[in-house]
Amino acid sequence: MSQSATQRNFTIEDALGELSSRLTAMNPKSSLRQLRAEAHMPGGNTRTLLYYTPFPIAFAHGEGCRLWDVDGHDYLDLVGEQSAAIFGHSDPRILDILQKVGREGLNLGGPNQYEARLAEVVCNRFPSMEQVRFCNSGTEANLFALSTARAFTGRSKIMAFSGGYHGGLLTFPNGPGPLNVPIPTVLASFNDVSQTHDLLERNAADLAAVIVEPMMGGAGCLPPAQEFLTMLRHSCNRNSIVLIYDEVMTSRLGPSGMQGRLGIQPDLTTLGKYIGGGMNFGAFGGRRDLMERYDPRRPDHWIHAGTFNNNVLTMAAGTLGLTEIFTPEAAVTLNESGDRLRAMLNDAASKRNLPVTVTGIGSLMNIHFARPPIATPTDLAKTRSALKSLLHLDFLLNGIYIARRGFIALSLPIGTDDLAYAVSTFEAFLDRWAELILDEA
Ligand code: PLP
Repeated sequence: MSQSATQRNFTIEDALGELSSRLTAMNPKSSLRQLRAEAHMPGGNTRTLLYYTPFPIAFAHGEGCRLWDVDGHDYLDLVGEQSAAIFGHSDPRILDILQKVGREGLNLGGPNQYEARLAEVVCNRFPSMEQVRFCNSGTEANLFALSTARAFTGRSKIMAFSGGYHGGLLTFPNGPGPLNVPIPTVLASFNDVSQTHDLLERNAADLAAVIVEPMMGGAGCLPPAQEFLTMLRHSCNRNSIVLIYDEVMTSRLGPSGMQGRLGIQPDLTTLGKYIGGGMNFGAFGGRRDLMERYDPRRPDHWIHAGTFNNNVLTMAAGTLGLTEIFTPEAAVTLNESGDRLRAMLNDAASKRNLPVTVTGIGSLMNIHFARPPIATPTDLAKTRSALKSLLHLDFLLNGIYIARRGFIALSLPIGTDDLAYAVSTFEAFLDRWAELILDEA
């Protein structure tokens, strides 16, 4: 225990214990649900990210940007289903089209009226995607994009970045995750121009693809340095390496995603999350000469199968979502409001001279307990996750749902009053725990 912790007479463990006990007392049904779930699912869990201590709060329903848990408390939802619920939980236009399409019949087993229209809308919105194919998740999209690059180039290796996340079988926490697909991977450091350039040039003859999130999302919302991504583009061009932008999370950061903001065209782009209107979704697409290898009329075509690739609910809700709700104008407005929120949160911390930094771009952000700069996964190593747990519990007790890792994704129904409430709750948190934050961070 440090000197000031002794003077304070409580530690971070005490603080976590206090908030956990209050949460447990208030949520008997969530607690019981967890116990029951443990009987048939390891850890009572089927999606690792959703587990946290003492047990995850289970939700009964959602409306707009609000969630109700099984014990009857309501929350302002700042997780937005890890960025997939951009339309909120009950947009009437989405619910209407789902009902209409449902009445037309599910699982028709042939091409339908919707998939070509969604393809057109996606390609118009992200001009580097000359052609696109749909699948069921961001993970699947990345697997197909990487396999496309490997088959096209005849090379085996890929380059990815430490701390990067491209799906459950493509995780790179501190090296390739143990469950990763067995693709030989050269790992580089995000935003480190010279190290990455060296590695790229040294391995160029074997590299099929470089896969990069144009803002590292899951790692903690680390914006890219423009010169870093420009270097990747040039190096990939020079060495005929396929540059893949994983825009599963970042496509919402501008009318044409991060690639539009940056003015850089990748060879392939992967999409997921909200683009299916809130239904299961994934897509990969890009340069015509790569994508046309999937044309089934070619005698040497590659096979891209998937029972639900053109699921009518996803295709119809996705088209409506992109054309009538998350329009290019809506993308600009939502990201501006994210920029304002991030500025207000950073302001609250700097006024109190506390080691807290909120990183991100537009509507995606992450609260970290460390002073700036936080630009690389190495900088993240100095942040304290116990304080993130404290913040998460404190917010839950005050009716705000954020991700335990401090991640926030805004959705369209969130209003200025909601943002003001988030800021005042954050300020109260900083005031209450200032000593602990100073001591621990
Ligand atoms: N790529 C990125 C950047 C992501 O953030 C995610 C999910 O969070 C994925 C890929 C995987 O997408 P999915 O969960 O749909 O498989």
